Amino acid sequence: MSSLALSSDYVPSHALANVRGSAIRDLLKLTEQPHVLSLAGGLPATELIPAERISECAARISADSASLQYTVSAGVHECREAVASYDDVTTPRRVLLTHGSQQALFLLAHALVNPGEMVVVDDPVYVGALQVFQSVRAEVVALPITSAGTDVDALRELLETGARPRIVHTVSNFHNPAGVTATTQTRIELARLADHYGFVVVEDDPYGRLRFTGDDVATIAAHGERVVRLGSASKILAPALRVGWMSGPPEIIAMVELLRQGADLCGSTFSQLIVAELLDDRTWLDNHIARVRDAYRLRAAALATALSREFGDRVEFTRPEGGMFCWARVPGADTSALLAGAVDAGVAYVPGAAFGVRADFGDCLRLSYSALTPDELSEAVRRLSVALLA
Ligand code: PMP
Repeated sequence: MSSLALSSDYVPSHALANVRGSAIRDLLKLTEQPHVLSLAGGLPATELIPAERISECAARISADSASLQYTVSAGVHECREAVASYDDVTTPRRVLLTHGSQQALFLLAHALVNPGEMVVVDDPVYVGALQVFQSVRAEVVALPITSAGTDVDALRELLETGARPRIVHTVSNFHNPAGVTATTQTRIELARLADHYGFVVVEDDPYGRLRFTGDDVATIAAHGERVVRLGSASKILAPALRVGWMSGPPEIIAMVELLRQGADLCGSTFSQLIVAELLDDRTWLDNHIARVRDAYRLRAAALATALSREFGDRVEFTRPEGGMFCWARVPGADTSALLAGAVDAGVAYVPGAAFGVRADFGDCLRLSYSALTPDELSEAVRRLSVALLA
């Protein structure tokens, strides 16, 4: 399904015609109406973005005109160093800075995947990843996600039939949209299968630092070499900085660096210098992230309480240990068809169907709790119950 109307004058490439539009981006337009409480967008809380600190940094950094110059394609060295230290990467040479981690995903797919080659994703999928893999005309195979993360048993069976994916993509912590976190066992097995069968695991992890309950789990990259980790300043500092990164084998970094020259030459020197300074100020950063985590803990709890109160046993939902998303199921409700009525009732969500590859998730929905206060969440869920249970 393409979102583009074919016109005889302007015919999209086969690659673009293969890309499914993001229902989420389209929805964001609807939710801009002032009366709508939006559980739809995956936006970090605006009021928790450290604007003052960023603006103070920006003023100081931009006083030096070198900060407004081009930089090398792999990114400003200080920022690669800061990311390496922040994300426990052995050397900055394994890090490449991108324009948000979305660009890292895009470049990586274009560097590694030929049309028709297989890429494995979770079902439900992170839509931005699906769009990237469709844009390289990959054969996308989706495996139903489990409460332990990617279904490694199903993956092993697929590999044993002779399938040879180039990439297996997952969101290892607080999955977008499924809300689950991959267990240590899943991570070890993914890294082991990658070594054995020669694919690359893309460990997409923009939310890992936003754990508000339970213990951290070692990264997939900690268990094997054929893993590229993606990280981002978007959810811990500010999306508009557009600084993300990938870390992984230097050969892959070199390939992506070459491709990147033709994509946008380089990232923003200015933004990368700001991110370097903030990642390096560890005391400030830890305090800031703790504030965000505390707020999200309260918000996730408020959402869960309201769901139980308003829906009783007519809803099933994940209880994420961090991040920004709850995945819910209201058996019997057609969440796509009911969305327009929900928006009229003053609440928005993303219907499960937007994230389905093979499964349709027609009675599921993704609820993002990060951008609303506990009181707003309570009211949003009240409106949701009116729309979905009517
Ligand atoms: N990966 C996942 C799983 C995401 O949810 C997002 C943002 N919604 C991204 C990557 C991209 O974020 P950014 O480009 O801002 O780093």
